[in-house]
Amino acid sequence: MLRILIDMDDVMADAIARFLEWYERDFGVKYSREQLHGTKLSEIVPPENRQKVLMYPHTKGFFKDLPVIEDSKEIIEALNNTYEIFVVSAAMEFKHSLYEKFEWLDEHFPFIPWKRRVFCGDKTIAKGDVLIDDHDFNLSVFNGRPIVFTAPHNVHYTKYERMNKWRDAHNFFDELLST
Ligand SMILES: [Mg+2]
Repeated sequence: MLRILIDMDDVMADAIARFLEWYERDFGVKYSREQLHGTKLSEIVPPENRQKVLMYPHTKGFFKDLPVIEDSKEIIEALNNTYEIFVVSAAMEFKHSLYEKFEWLDEHFPFIPWKRRVFCGDKTIAKGDVLIDDHDFNLSVFNGRPIVFTAPHNVHYTKYERMNKWRDAHNFFDELLST
């Protein structure tokens, strides 16, 4: 059975929304996703605010209640009926993220059992046939078929197959067409 590895942040869970939300809360400035094209928030804020932004994901609550990326729940549930789905998420750099991500999956993706949740440090440990991820540093070292899931920071990537929205998943996985 085809094994598909799926990243969480900015593929299933909208972490960028939290960065923008907390920055507006703390500094009263609302950045747009378009302003993050090819970059990330910590790179474009005034230098004196940068350290605070870099600390956000280390802060308790950052990964709690993140918005679910549009259509991800329905499509991943459909994929889960046909393929071997593993959620593969780096959850060691930000220690609170480990528990908050587990709870988030329980709430929004209860059909992903604990045996299919891989919380790791470096994703090179994860082997599979397909990886859907938003970062070059994960996609470039994957030993299977890498698919970039569109996020502001990766809009300029050219070397991967690209999935803009979850509803486009049927273009990559034929069996979805029948669902
Ligand atoms: Mg990600």
